[in-house]
Amino acid sequence: MAEKITPRAKDYSQWYIDIVINAKLADYAPVKGCMVIRPRGYALWERIQQGLDGMFKETGHVNAYFPLLIPESFIKKEAEHVEGFSPELAVVTHAGGEKLEEPLVIRPTSETIIWSMYKKWIQSYRDLPLLINQWCNVLRWEKRTRLFLRTTEFLWQEGHTAHATAAEAEEETLRMLDVYRRFAEEHMAVPVLAGVKSESEKFAGAVRTYCIEALMQDGKSLQAGTSHNLGQNFAKAFDVTFQTKDKTLDHVWATSWGASTRLIGAVIMAHSDDKGLVLPPRLAPTEVVIVPIFKNETKEAVTAFARNLRDTLAPGFRVLLDDDDQNTPGWKFSEYELQGIPVRVEIGPRDMEKGQLVAVRRDTGEKTFLPVAEAPAKLRAMLDDIQASLFQKALKFRKDHTSRAATYAELAKLLDDPGGFVEAGWCGDAACEAKVKEETKATIRVLPLGSGEGRSAQGGQGSTCIICGKNAGHIAVFGRAY
Ligand SMILES: [Zn+2]
Repeated sequence: MAEKITPRAKDYSQWYIDIVINAKLADYAPVKGCMVIRPRGYALWERIQQGLDGMFKETGHVNAYFPLLIPESFIKKEAEHVEGFSPELAVVTHAGGEKLEEPLVIRPTSETIIWSMYKKWIQSYRDLPLLINQWCNVLRWEKRTRLFLRTTEFLWQEGHTAHATAAEAEEETLRMLDVYRRFAEEHMAVPVLAGVKSESEKFAGAVRTYCIEALMQDGKSLQAGTSHNLGQNFAKAFDVTFQTKDKTLDHVWATSWGASTRLIGAVIMAHSDDKGLVLPPRLAPTEVVIVPIFKNETKEAVTAFARNLRDTLAPGFRVLLDDDDQNTPGWKFSEYELQGIPVRVEIGPRDMEKGQLVAVRRDTGEKTFLPVAEAPAKLRAMLDDIQASLFQKALKFRKDHTSRAATYAELAKLLDDPGGFVEAGWCGDAACEAKVKEETKATIRVLPLGSGEGRSAQGGQGSTCIICGKNAGHIAVFGRAY
């Protein structure tokens, strides 16, 4: 099994693809840039959906569904939006054997169709806030694709909310940014930097884009979720007004926020190793796999013992028993390591006699003997410890790969070694930002909260822009990104 996976040190990019393909998470589709999400990959997506959906509901949101096809004229209503998305659109011009009167765009995102409906649904301040999310697929014609990280069609959720005031919209934007941050850190065990995007990196049609950025094991950054304050841009484009409490008419304030199947790529890249996938227990579709070890004469007794253990654990764990006798235990061990199941339980005839089991951690390979009677409590504690250790390991990696540049020459040097995130003063000028991108391939990943736009500039005070030398309004985090 393991021989099929290229070591990270040899070729990180190939290592990632080997894991996705060999662990059967996804496969290439007949149409270039599209992917098939296989059952094991989809099970991971379901865990992500369940976790996020619960958090959306806790914060007052409800789910709905809007159509895949959007009249082309809708996309053109918001100037920045059409400019940003035009190069990525797929357009339906023929249907039912005839040329359509108006071409239909396959949704790259749903602001336009949703705001065309909000115009019907919102009349008064009593209709606000409107807090709707949808789980769906979207399509963006990408030139360079990579399984999960960037595909032409992908699955995501997109929240679209409408508010009576600018302050409420900003509050919602930050609330959802924090939902993404908590999900990444607590479920995925991936530490993230939360902050604002620069003007050049913001969503097409937004006033302000907030994001969470995660660091992968090759030192590249991955944007893992975005939350946009759309101001009144879409309300103006679709003429959505409401009667305020003071009986005046105002345009509605909006937000949108999304996270996608890209999160699966983030989890793989943040934790996995040369043996395969490493999954944080909270996200793992299977937390514990039981592998009985037997010969012909002990098969019946050991299997019965293992089934008993499975039944004991089943109410509290996502547990799998593999008592198939076609494959050897050794084959099973490497297979479940490849699949990233957090804990493997081995039971042989001698363990059975002693009333014990062997628990093997996927993250460290550490073996522990546990009395069967204590198994539920001890295994739960072990899974909690794996979850916490993976987060701490990723956090340490990020600390070791975060540095501060005082000069432009230093920025370029630090981006190569140690790589990762490099903090530096930035004046806020797009020309300085573009120079860095052109010369180093690094972009401003985020202006961390506390020093970002629309916030106090304390983080940048006293420092200078490392590109032009003017006073820096910001401390920006630079990095090369997926
Ligand atoms: Zn500058």
